[in-house]
Amino acid sequence: MENLKLSIKNNKKDIIKFKIKNLEISKDFLMIAGPCSVEDEEQIIQTAIGVKKFGANMLRGGVFKPRTSPYSFQGIGKKGLIFLKNASIETGLPILTEVLDTRDVETVCEYADILQIGSRNMQNFSLLQEVGRSKKPVLLKRGRSATIAEWLCAAEYIMNEGNLNLILCERGIRTPETYTRNTLDVSAISAIKNISRLPIIADPSHATGRPELILPMCESCIMAGADGLMLEVHISPKNSLCDAKQAISVSKFGKIMQKINQVYNFKKQLEE
Ligand code: PEP
Ligand code: MN
Repeated sequence: MENLKLSIKNNKKDIIKFKIKNLEISKDFLMIAGPCSVEDEEQIIQTAIGVKKFGANMLRGGVFKPRTSPYSFQGIGKKGLIFLKNASIETGLPILTEVLDTRDVETVCEYADILQIGSRNMQNFSLLQEVGRSKKPVLLKRGRSATIAEWLCAAEYIMNEGNLNLILCERGIRTPETYTRNTLDVSAISAIKNISRLPIIADPSHATGRPELILPMCESCIMAGADGLMLEVHISPKNSLCDAKQAISVSKFGKIMQKINQVYNFKKQLEE
């Protein structure tokens, strides 16, 4: 690991814990599910009801989408925040959504329970400082080409503003491999557990880009010590306006959840 100055040294007694609504982060297993992007009110409410039924405890949905091509669907913008809020009121699920721009942080904070900083913005330092100052919980995704040390340094930009309500998310990194969308670095999860106080979850949807690999990667990440998982779920995957290839249906999510619960309980038994 590069010799970067980090303040979040390993101290098992001092694991960062905080609450998002009734969820105790670092204690309760975080299961975030929802579409890549919010498309309309009906879509997000139906997804929220569906994923909640199968055990999700947080709803995701992007309204500002960081797309590689400027010609791809960019998200429905601010009105999507109202749809997300209504889905939250309907189901009681807290909401996670991505913020792309410092100018939107204040507005997104009014609706979201946790702000996502996406992979492409992991080193957008002014954005990191702005979400740090907001004191809202933050999910910091790993940059596509970031080392673990660079990722932890990005986390420190947020923490240095006095915001320790932070969760890391391993979402795969770029390697020579092209069969999968990215390469899921499962070892990073265990490494972060060894060297950092921060909770960490995994996103096998973006990491693999392949629905058939999502379940085995969820299982692997749980065994590696993940504090939670995030999955892209759509009421009609093939019609998804964004990341359709990796989206799973609500019923597929239900099947995956059954297995995830078994693996999670098995892991807990091993720790007893
Ligand atoms: C997303 O969560 O929809 C997303 C864009 O993720 P990432 O930043 O990991 O690509
Ligand atoms: Mn996506």
